[in-house]
Amino acid sequence: CLNQAMNALTGVLSDLDRVLLSAEDIRARISSMAAQIERDYAGKLITVVALMDGALFFVADLLRQIDLPIRLVTLGASSYHGGTHSTGQVKLQWPTGVTLADQDILLLDDILDTGLTLAALHQRLQAEKPASLRTGVLLNKKRQRTQDCQLDYCGFEIADEFVVGYGMDYQGRFRNLPCIGILRP
Ligand code: 5GP
Ligand code: MG
Ligand code: MG
Repeated sequence: CLNQAMNALTGVLSDLDRVLLSAEDIRARISSMAAQIERDYAGKLITVVALMDGALFFVADLLRQIDLPIRLVTLGASSYHGGTHSTGQVKLQWPTGVTLADQDILLLDDILDTGLTLAALHQRLQAEKPASLRTGVLLNKKRQRTQDCQLDYCGFEIADEFVVGYGMDYQGRFRNLPCIGILRP
């Protein structure tokens, strides 16, 4: 990724210490996740609830590979507030006029870390009485969870390091990197 993208994005990529997942790694894995979701939801309409802003790129790429009817709801959720560690508090922006009862909901986020975000959202969505509720993330950090939560679809297992790129930020930056990497100290 670094070589390929370097030509176009020399500026933003120069802050990376190393690349963890290349744009090609991500693309290939998302294709197989899409195929799995397509099989699991065959004949259904999926209501995707996507957590902004981190899941923006993941969700955009994943949904365009799923050959099923999809309804998209985006929610603002944040627990990092710009830093590199969870604050332990999940702030939710619940949109007005959204109804989720009796729907087949697929909750998607960029990364599962402490588990607080996904667990809070899962609980909040369950209260809407959906027909079904599943969860998916692109990245799953191998670490002790603060909060247990159900995970149905996972792109990659990664080590407990702070990552940026492909939607994920550090202080609002680096979301536009085509790959996922670790920042220079
Ligand atoms: P959790 O609530 O599971 O601790 O964290 C989930 C949220 O924290 C994710 O939606 C993501 O926004 C943020 N997050 C967790 N780990 C990382 C990371 O390594 N890098 C970035 N940029 N954000 C992270
Ligand atoms: Mg997030
Ligand atoms: Mg963030």
